[in-house]
Amino acid sequence: MASERTNATFYDNVEVEDQWRLSEVDDGWSVMGIALALERGVMGGTNPAVPLLKHVLNWAETTPSKNKRLLINDALMRERIARTAIINQVGQLLTLRAAWIAATGGMPGVEGSMAKIYASEEYQKVVGWFQQMAGAEGLLSFGAEDAAASGWIDYDARHAPVTTIYGGTSEINRNNIAERHLGLPRSR
Ligand SMILES: Cc1cc2nc3c(=O)[nH]c(=O)nc-3n(C[C@H](O)[C@H](O)[C@H](O)COP(=O)(O)OP(=O)(O)OC[C@H]3O[C@@H](n4cnc5c(N)ncnc54)[C@H](O)[C@@H]3O)c2cc1C
Repeated sequence: MASERTNATFYDNVEVEDQWRLSEVDDGWSVMGIALALERGVMGGTNPAVPLLKHVLNWAETTPSKNKRLLINDALMRERIARTAIINQVGQLLTLRAAWIAATGGMPGVEGSMAKIYASEEYQKVVGWFQQMAGAEGLLSFGAEDAAASGWIDYDARHAPVTTIYGGTSEINRNNIAERHLGLPRSR
């Protein structure tokens, strides 16, 4: 859907010496829990609307609308570009908080969930705005003549849905915040 490649890799009959074991035998989940905590907030991809903003701004500054004025002169376009810039700034601060916790020896489990939910859900919202404003040309892909923002709006609109799934779904991240931060009862 997002023009990305996904690999599945299988290992059979692999023996690993005990010196390479992490944590206790049969305790793999707690090891993975550390990896997942770092993935959510720190590994990257927590601010996906940053390149989108650059491409949309360039498109709005160079493309005339039906009334021959550049798209950037449209008040709603300017407001949405400004809101996207603000969203990106907040997403960056949330990501930096998680990165700082990790860099100073902490485990940003909850903070990573907060950063990921915020950035991925806002990304879906803002790309929807721009695709709607682009009309049919917002459905054209890279290489197509007249593709809005050279195809980046179409690409981001197809990429955005997966960002609330991979690296922990929004539902799982909300459970994480509810249980570990707010002290609400476990959901299962
Ligand atoms: C594009 C893409 C790339 C990916 N890349 C990788 C990768 O590189 N490496 C890797 O290991 N994995 C990767 N994944 C897998 C990804 O991590 C999983 O898809 C994701 O964690 C969701 O798990 P699932 O698909 O098994 O859904 P499920 O766990 O079956 O969930 C299905 C639905 O039920 C909800 N749900 C499940 N449990 C609960 C609960 N307890 N409370 C509330 N709601 C719940 C979920 O939020 C979701 O909406 C990728 C996925 C995608 C889409």
